[in-house]
Amino acid sequence: MDSTSGMVGYVAACLTCGAALRSSSRTIEFCQDACRRAFNNRRAVRGAEFYDLYMAIRYDRSEAKRLKAWTKLTKLARSYREEDMRERNGRKSWKPLKAVLMRHTHLNSKVIG
Ligand SMILES: [Zn+2]
Repeated sequence: MDSTSGMVGYVAACLTCGAALRSSSRTIEFCQDACRRAFNNRRAVRGAEFYDLYMAIRYDRSEAKRLKAWTKLTKLARSYREEDMRERNGRKSWKPLKAVLMRHTHLNSKVIG
C-alpha cells in the first residue's frame, strides 16, 4: 500500500514492461492492454510447448524416455528464462504459484477417510 501520497492505493510494476503502476486495486498487473496481451500470449505459446512435452512424459512414457523429453523440458525452461533475462530485464514471465493454486483449488484437496 502507498502511504506516501496520502491516498489509499497500491504500487506495483507492469508484468510486461516494468512500468510503475498505481491503483486503488490490489490486483492491477499491466499498464495497458497491449502489455496484458503480450504477457498472456507469451504464456500461451510457451505453455503449449510445455503441455505437449509434459503430457508425453506422463502418458507416452516409453517414447518420452527414449527421446529424453524431461531433459528437453528443462532445457526449454532454461531457454525461456534466458530469454526473459535478455528481453525482459529479468522480470518473471509467469504468474505466482499461489495464483495458479487459487484458480485450481481442487489441487489442494486431500482424500480423507
Ligand atoms: Zn506495461
